[in-house]
Amino acid sequence: MKFGYEKLKQDGAARRGTITTAHGTIDTPAFMPVGTAATVKGMLPEQVAETGAQILLGNTYHLMLRPGAERVAELGGLHTFMNWDKPILTDSGGYQVMSLSKLRKITEEGVTFQSHVDGSRQHLSPERSIEIQHLLDADITMAFDECTPFPADEETAAESMRLSMRWAVRSKEAFQQRDGYGLFGIVQGSIYPELREESAEALKEIGFDGYAIGGLAVGEGQELMFQTLEKTIPHLPEDRPRYLMGVGKPPDLVGAVMRGVDMFDCVLPTRSGRTAQAFTRRGTINLMNARHAADPRPIDPDCQCYACRNYSRAYINHLLKCQEMLGPMLITRHNLHYYQELMAGMRSAIEQGALQQFAVNFEAQYTGGDIPEI
Ligand SMILES: [Zn+2]
Repeated sequence: MKFGYEKLKQDGAARRGTITTAHGTIDTPAFMPVGTAATVKGMLPEQVAETGAQILLGNTYHLMLRPGAERVAELGGLHTFMNWDKPILTDSGGYQVMSLSKLRKITEEGVTFQSHVDGSRQHLSPERSIEIQHLLDADITMAFDECTPFPADEETAAESMRLSMRWAVRSKEAFQQRDGYGLFGIVQGSIYPELREESAEALKEIGFDGYAIGGLAVGEGQELMFQTLEKTIPHLPEDRPRYLMGVGKPPDLVGAVMRGVDMFDCVLPTRSGRTAQAFTRRGTINLMNARHAADPRPIDPDCQCYACRNYSRAYINHLLKCQEMLGPMLITRHNLHYYQELMAGMRSAIEQGALQQFAVNFEAQYTGGDIPEI
């Protein structure tokens, strides 16, 4: 089976398509729940699949430190290890090295850093990152890059981006082509359109199975993020998937799909589940809030997820107040379901040529306020 992207329908800049991988097909636009340490926190794999998720993201940085890529490979690869038989994308580790580790040293060769787990000295290079992702058996491997800090002046952003482009060449050389497995390049260049264009052109020259847009959702705000997408996406090939990394809030997903993005990942639905925040069609609500304490209605009366079919806001509020683990588990389950429903709604709207209207309705409802108090 050959790795590939097929565009089925276009609506404005938005695309409805499929990605074929060794472990199955992904309908796009797609949202990937994050399974950092080989688990989507608080969720059994079959529950994750039940929300509609067709692909998960695994973190190279976390898995190389614990339990180690060689260990995962000995145990049959990440799919077997975590009991998830659908596609998996792994990041390159570059982003977490910057955000989590201590005493980093970046050279042309790669990055040396101290593990945040046990203080041990670790090294990542393009070659080692690609090798780790191979050992994990990722269907989609990401090129090793440096996530440019934000804000960065243009000179700093240019130097960082060009280092990532040299690492992209080495990532491509290190990647072993196999049927059903793909390698994505990552466009960098901060918020500077000329740098984004230069980066996209450099990656196209190298040639990848998909193109990610990195270095966004790092504090620049939605307007600058959308502007950067509009300046970047026209330089990416039509016949390859586009992946906006680390995004985002529901309105970010809608705006980015309208600008031609096919894939997303974000910790928001799962992390928010652990901090009492639920995403609903009517915006976000905090279930710790006292106003939910006697409310017999579900998180979202229009939601068909397991949590909303069986439990009240009052019960979840009670669980949270008692610090019972079922509280975050139920909210996480609802949140992941909500994100997948949102993506399914956009896919269906694109098929009907009605994404513009979908976005108008979404915006009106999302900003219209929670269900009235009783
Ligand atoms: Zn629900």
